[in-house]
Amino acid sequence: QDRLAQKWDKLGMIGQLAAGIAHEIRNPLTAVKGFVQLLGKETNSQYNEIIVSELERIEFIMNEFLFLAKPQQDMKLETRNMNKLIKEVVNFMKPEALLNDVTIHVRCDSSLPLVCCEPQQIKQVMINLIKNAVEAMPSGGNILIQTAAKSGDYASIKVCDEGIGIPEDKLQKLFEPFYTSKETGTGLGLMVSKKIIEDHKGSLTFSSEVGKGTAALILLPGVDDE
Ligand code: ADP
Ligand code: MG
Repeated sequence: QDRLAQKWDKLGMIGQLAAGIAHEIRNPLTAVKGFVQLLGKETNSQYNEIIVSELERIEFIMNEFLFLAKPQQDMKLETRNMNKLIKEVVNFMKPEALLNDVTIHVRCDSSLPLVCCEPQQIKQVMINLIKNAVEAMPSGGNILIQTAAKSGDYASIKVCDEGIGIPEDKLQKLFEPFYTSKETGTGLGLMVSKKIIEDHKGSLTFSSEVGKGTAALILLPGVDDE
């Protein structure tokens, strides 16, 4: 984690510059995408589809990057029940999981404390974790999402899979920008997820066993009820 902090310090100035450039590139990129799509309709060329999907990949990476560079002072916080939020995310992800022969199970602790959060961001984290879990099980399997109230008034959310697992020496690399073991991965999902959870004064950690599976653990401070 220290290593990561150092990396970001070094990125400081250049990072700001890069964020500025990313922002400037985004608008012409959107225009180019629009025109390529139009061109595709007129010419019926299959190349346009490839161009559009590659442009979308650039767009995605830009958006993730700009999100990281954005200061998180103006979070729009709401008090939410994480059990409900998780069920919403799971309903949304079920089709994609089933397509990959993956079943998602949810076990909720009804005494879970409420969490003050930006719901859309926590959902984004859950989506990132579920996607990784699905991708870790190329021939299908089960995902178990379990919530629990933890002492000190914390809400814990665990996402477990039965996938390929993560070798010990790779565990510390997970949150590094662009670390990926996948052919078409971006290596940004976990970095963004960690930033979101830490912006919420929580923590995101992993434990894993190669060949057995992986568990991602989110801890979020609960709101004190008066
Ligand atoms: P990406 O999914 O684009 O590769 P992420 O930041 O989401 O980027 O994940 C980084 C890397 O962490 C993955 O490429 C993979 O090697 C590893 N990883 C993350 N989650 C899991 C998991 N549930 N099982 C196995 N490996 C994982
Ligand atoms: Mg990912």
